[in-house]
Amino acid sequence: MSERTVLYIEDNFHNRRLVRKILASRGYTVVEAESGSQGMDMLRAGRPPLLLLDIGLPDVDGLEIVRWVRSEAALRNLPVIAITASAMRGDRERFLEAGCDDYLSKPIHAVELLQLVDRYYPQAGDPPANDPAPAP
Ligand code: CA
Repeated sequence: MSERTVLYIEDNFHNRRLVRKILASRGYTVVEAESGSQGMDMLRAGRPPLLLLDIGLPDVDGLEIVRWVRSEAALRNLPVIAITASAMRGDRERFLEAGCDDYLSKPIHAVELLQLVDRYYPQAGDPPANDPAPAP
């Protein structure tokens, strides 16, 4: 598969459209989930190479999702970038502690988003995205 896919869990239509546009400009395909539960269903169905995760979701808290991802053998090593409006002191630590690899604060800026996605997207030579995690 030549397309580069990213799963984005975000309830806000405008943010989804913006992220889709920015990432499409670099050849990424954005698969979107509109709610936390939909996103979790999609993660159960197949591991994407990279997850962009809104923290403020109406149904499931984003931090709860990332903790669940880290507890699942098949998803444990999935790179997760949190996207959040919350920029209070201590938030970064809270997100990283919950299991996020990095985080981006809203409003979303194209350059910052692309830098992060390029940094965390698996490179050729990394294990294929659909391989299950190695047995412990
Ligand atoms: Ca939101």
